[in-house]
Amino acid sequence: MAHNLFPVVPDTGTLKAARLATEITGNPGRWVRLDCQHLRHVQQPVEAGQELECPTCPPSVGGALPSHRVLGRGPERRRRAWLDAGPQAPGKAGAFAAEAVTYAGPISLVDDAGRMASELVASALRHTDAPVELTVDAGGDMVRIEVRDDDWTAPGTGKVVSFELREARSGN
Ligand SMILES: [Zn+2]
Repeated sequence: MAHNLFPVVPDTGTLKAARLATEITGNPGRWVRLDCQHLRHVQQPVEAGQELECPTCPPSVGGALPSHRVLGRGPERRRRAWLDAGPQAPGKAGAFAAEAVTYAGPISLVDDAGRMASELVASALRHTDAPVELTVDAGGDMVRIEVRDDDWTAPGTGKVVSFELREARSGN
């Protein structure tokens, strides 16, 4: 099926291919989960149950990629995590945000979202020892990152810092 659709760039389902395809075609595509539990990127519409090659599974002896079925549920648009205060928190925040944006898009903001989440959490942890709540709202052409530090020993004194990233659409 889908023989009528020719991707403009090789659609190998990897993060690198997804970025290249987005740059060239302006089509962000989307991520789907396969029944081997790996994510792969698609530029063309696919339906649940359809078989796609998985770029993450080990190839067969002959070098062919194994096919797996597309699972039905789409990614959550909003994800939330609690991070314990500590030196690893900014790094965890960055990884969490990058993964959330990898699932929900836009793919061009994965790196910026990770960096921003990491910075916001690092800055929140300069004035609290309490865990911070990180919310990543991603989808469409934007990502919103919110960091809340609510010190339960002094309720109501917590601060919320948020930042929005929007996909750049250059006109040239
Ligand atoms: Zn796989």
